[in-house]
Amino acid sequence: MAYAGGRGECIPLNHLFQMDTPIGIARSTRARSTNEAHMYSVNRLTHQSYGSVIHIERAENGSQATPFRAVQLALKERRLWMESGTKKVRILVDSQVLNPKQAEHWANEEYKSLPKCEGCAKILDGSIHTHRLSTRVFCSEDCADRDYVEEVEKLKDEEEIDYL
Ligand SMILES: [Zn+2]
Repeated sequence: MAYAGGRGECIPLNHLFQMDTPIGIARSTRARSTNEAHMYSVNRLTHQSYGSVIHIERAENGSQATPFRAVQLALKERRLWMESGTKKVRILVDSQVLNPKQAEHWANEEYKSLPKCEGCAKILDGSIHTHRLSTRVFCSEDCADRDYVEEVEKLKDEEEIDYL
């Protein structure tokens, strides 16, 4: 019979799940890949209907990690382009022309829609991590491990209540 001790007490946990590793070592974390890329590229281009545009696009190898940075760069590029004599430069996102205020609004909405780590709230990209006591997803093994330890603590607390 396996016992998992923490803080000096001995609590049988093996009927909740097979306890084959000491508490605190989250051997159960696993990684998987997200299909979506959450990177953005920002490019100047001449659009057939809109003329001079700064195009913000979701791209796997984009240079900008967040929609906020993408919009900041787009606004900077727009300024530079206009300073060099081009009268009207628009921002193009998802086939829509946006003014600077709308572009900032787009960044907010886009950010809200991105999946984030349940531990540290970082935007999830590339690989995500989870553990066997949760269906939530995390940015790293560290964040998944921390959550695993918390979940184990919660299970221990529930066990203690059962024994009262
Ligand atoms: Zn995280």
